[in-house]
Amino acid sequence: MSLLSVHNLTKTFSGANGARVQAVSDVSFSVHAGEVLGVVGESGCGKTTLGHAILRLIEPDSGKVMYGGLDLVSATKAELKQTRRDLQIIFQDPFGSLNPRHKIGTVVGEPLLVHGIGSHSERRDRVASLLNLVGLPEDSSNRFPHEFSGGQRQRIAIARALALDPKLIVADESVSALDVSIQSQILNLIAELRVKLGMSIIFISHDLSVIRHISDRIAVMYLGRIVEIGPALQVMSKPQHPYTQALLSSVPEISLSRHKAKAIISGEPPDPSNPPPGCTFSNRCPQATSLCRMTRPELLPVNGDAQGVETACHLYAT
Ligand code: SF4
Repeated sequence: MSLLSVHNLTKTFSGANGARVQAVSDVSFSVHAGEVLGVVGESGCGKTTLGHAILRLIEPDSGKVMYGGLDLVSATKAELKQTRRDLQIIFQDPFGSLNPRHKIGTVVGEPLLVHGIGSHSERRDRVASLLNLVGLPEDSSNRFPHEFSGGQRQRIAIARALALDPKLIVADESVSALDVSIQSQILNLIAELRVKLGMSIIFISHDLSVIRHISDRIAVMYLGRIVEIGPALQVMSKPQHPYTQALLSSVPEISLSRHKAKAIISGEPPDPSNPPPGCTFSNRCPQATSLCRMTRPELLPVNGDAQGVETACHLYAT
């Protein structure tokens, strides 16, 4: 069952030379209740902009984000404040996302205070139980962010995101700034909390190993568009889009024996302020044809044994 659905979401920015850069271009997908949807792609592909536009931390240019019968893109401030209780975010930087002058009890309890939830003592108890939930000692409440390691600070950020019992969390590169050994601890914590609390997660990362570890479904982005989306097992074992195949080939720990041939990405992504008219991957794709250079492929279901997979590639057009 769909919890949140995104329809034709688009966000452009002004480039250095005044040209418009489409960071997110006509993106549509749904997030099901209780699932982790991994969003992966190279740096600059638009995945973070997508996460922020869904929550309206930045204003989309057009499109819809439907949640509980409400379009978040056209919602009023009051309506958005209500939905903020259900839709939260964990940012990448556990150092920058916590106010250094506030004690942890204040940081974690702030969403409860802003939404007028509970008395002072009820909020204090809730903060204690949230800290316990993320594996931090109760006396953390009286300490400042600088007294904690990077991994502990990300646990604090997770506790704060959980304060209002959200239905969906956008985790934006939430383990990228951490040491590899700490990354797996935080990933395991997020996976455990997802099961325990039954929430949905849009997990954004450039790291396919991380995405593979945590996702039920995976959306692959390239130059502001989703080029492949489907069940994680399908996407990881039988990638359809040439870009997904190349992305998988670039991860040493993902066996290439399952792919027919090692796919290498050559060249650079095109200038996002001046993308090619057809498939935006056509200048790097070894299978590009003249059709690819003229006509943009739609994201469509793949026939055959790729159950539930959609891809934007002319190779699969029927
Ligand atoms: Fe390659 Fe053409 Fe498919 Fe684009 S549409 S990925 S250029 S084969």
